[in-house]
Amino acid sequence: MKFDFSATGKGRVIAGTSGGTLFCLGTALLVDSTNFDRLSPEALKFAILFDILVPVGLAAPMLFLLLHKMRLLAIAHREMSIFAATDSLTTVLNRGAFKMMVDAFLRQASEHKTHAVGAFLIVDADHFKSINDRFGHQSGDEALKIIAQTIHKSLRQGDIVGRIGGEEFGVFLPKAGFDQATTVAERIRQQISAAEFPPDERTNQLSVSVGGVAFGGDTAYDELFRRADKCLYSAKSRGRNMVIFEPLAA
Ligand code: GH3
Ligand code: MG
Ligand code: MG
Repeated sequence: MKFDFSATGKGRVIAGTSGGTLFCLGTALLVDSTNFDRLSPEALKFAILFDILVPVGLAAPMLFLLLHKMRLLAIAHREMSIFAATDSLTTVLNRGAFKMMVDAFLRQASEHKTHAVGAFLIVDADHFKSINDRFGHQSGDEALKIIAQTIHKSLRQGDIVGRIGGEEFGVFLPKAGFDQATTVAERIRQQISAAEFPPDERTNQLSVSVGGVAFGGDTAYDELFRRADKCLYSAKSRGRNMVIFEPLAA
């Protein structure tokens, strides 16, 4: 049997209860043992029994209850943190959580004086207003889920994706260079345009435009956003369904 000793695991409750009870038992016996040599054999038996029964009968249930409640609180806290960071429709990070994670990466790189390299993309659904108008808002919601899932599937572990606007997603690729990031952006674009939508007709109605910037060195979220947004604007004005990427900046 494998125990989970994290704050939300049952293992910690069992280990804490057992350890705490043994500690109480040991302490009771140790403290009482100073009187043991003065007791008759009958009284000694009774004292030892008492020293065992009180910790086991009182400390164990109280510790178990306390640790069990703490575990429930830790589970609730974890669920609330996930809920607060997640976009409820697409299940990717929401705007605030996405920005917080990108900021954290950039801050850490700056504090540790490491030469931060990475890329920032904005993926915006093309003519999404007309998708809603033609297929209805509910189908529009389904399309947003497809786009989010397709982006998510195109990324590696450690890459970050968030919904930063109504039909707009942010992607952060830590450690990705210009060529690698351009390949990822192109893959996202192609896979979304190949996705089946609407689901009951096998047509491909979705497309996205992607603006991206690759960076090396100190930078800030707002700067990355501004530059990626400029590229996105170019992709939209040049006809959509395309990737425009700015090369590595100092
Ligand atoms: P462009 O190619 O220039 O980006 O055109 P667009 O129509 O995608 O852009 P526009 O900003 O004009 O419209 C965005 C649309 O996205 C309008 C809005 O109703 C829709 N939208 C935003 N959030 C949601 C959502 O949560 N669900 C659905 N179904 N639609 C949404
Ligand atoms: Mg759009
Ligand atoms: Mg938009």
